Amino acid sequence: MNRYAGLAAVDSAIGPGKDPWDPIHSLRAFGRHKLTSVEMTVTNLCNMRCEHCAVGDSLVFKEPEHIPLELMLNALDQVEHLQTISITGGEPSFRRKTVEEVIVPLLKYAKSKGIRSQMNSNLTLDYERYEPLLPYLDVMHISFNYTSALDFHEVGFARNPHPVNEDVAYKMYNKMIDNTRKLSEAGMFISAESMINYRTHRKLPEIHRLIVEMGCQRHEVHPMYAADFAENLPKLSLDEIRCAISDLLDARDPELWMLFGTLPFFACNDHSSDAELLRRLRTEKNVTVRNDPDGRNRVNVNMFTGDVFVTDFAAIPSFGNIKERRLDDIFDDWLDKHPLNQRVNCYCEAASCCGPNLLVADMYYNNVDFKTRKAITL
Ligand code: SF4
Repeated sequence: MNRYAGLAAVDSAIGPGKDPWDPIHSLRAFGRHKLTSVEMTVTNLCNMRCEHCAVGDSLVFKEPEHIPLELMLNALDQVEHLQTISITGGEPSFRRKTVEEVIVPLLKYAKSKGIRSQMNSNLTLDYERYEPLLPYLDVMHISFNYTSALDFHEVGFARNPHPVNEDVAYKMYNKMIDNTRKLSEAGMFISAESMINYRTHRKLPEIHRLIVEMGCQRHEVHPMYAADFAENLPKLSLDEIRCAISDLLDARDPELWMLFGTLPFFACNDHSSDAELLRRLRTEKNVTVRNDPDGRNRVNVNMFTGDVFVTDFAAIPSFGNIKERRLDDIFDDWLDKHPLNQRVNCYCEAASCCGPNLLVADMYYNNVDFKTRKAITL
C-alpha cells in the first residue's frame, strides 16, 4: 500500500500551512490516530546539564553499543504510514561516530523515502560536526531560552556535577549562535524552541528578538512542565502562562513562523480568557498551534535497547520492543488498551484539538475527565 494513501503528499515545503508532525492530519485522514512519526534516542551523552532537561535523569558519561542499524531501519520500513522521524538525545552529535554511523544513515533513509526529519541539538560543538547533516535534515531543533551568555551559563550547567567555568560557557554560547547563523545561511531550517518557565516568562520578547537575529526559520514555544529531572522547579500559574504568550504575540516579528505546542488551554474550558487567547492564536498571521504528537501519532525508540516509549523521557514504562514486535502493533496496543491513553484520548474537530498532553493533564487538570468534555469556545 502507498504509505501516504489518505494523507496529503509530503512534497510541499514545511511552513505554517504544513506541519507534518501534527497528529491532527492523520486523525482526520483515517478517523483514528495512526503511527506516522517515530522518534529515536540515539545517545544519552551530552556536554550540557540544563536545569529544565526533560531527559536529565537518563544522561550518562559512558554508554553501550547501539542496536544494529538494520534492525531500526527494518522497524521503520514496516511502519505503514510513516511521515516523519525525529532524532534526539542527549546531544545526538556528541560523538562523531554516532553522526556518521547512525544519524546520517537514518536521515539518508528518510530522504530516500520522502519522510520528513528533525533532530534536536544544542549546536554548541564545532560547525563541522553539523555540516554533514545539511543535505538530508529537514528541521534542526534547538533550545533557546536566553537573553545573554550569563543566562546560558546559569541554565545550561545548573545540574553539572562540577561547576563550569564561565569562560567555557560563554565560548559555547557564542559557538551556538555562530553555528545557528552559519547553518541558517547554508539553508538549514532551524527551529528554536523556548520554554515558558519561571525564568523566561517575562523575557520572551527579548529571546524572540535574538532568535530572529540568528536567522532561524521558526520560533517554537512550549510551557515547561515539571517532569523527572525538572520536577522541583517552580510552577507557573495558568494566568502567568497566558500573559507570557500575550506579551510575546504583542512583541513578535509577524514574518517569523511561531509554533506553539503542549499548551494548557483548551476550547472546552469555560474561561473567557482562554477563549480569547485561543481565538488570537488561531487568527494571527504565521502562528500555529500543534497538537501534541506523543502517543497520538508518535512513539520513541531507545536505540540502545529497542524499547518503545510514549516519549523520550521515560516516566511511563516501555510498552514494547522492536526486536519482538512491529511498531504499528505496539502503537495500536498503546492506543486501544493503555489506561493512561484512555484518560486524554479526546477529539473535537471544531476546535482542531485532539486532547491534552499527559503532563499537562496531570499538572493543571488533575481531576478533569476530558473524555466527557466538548469544545465550547471557538
Ligand atoms: S479535544 Fe479534548 S481537550 Fe480539546 S477541546 Fe475537546 S474535550 Fe477539550
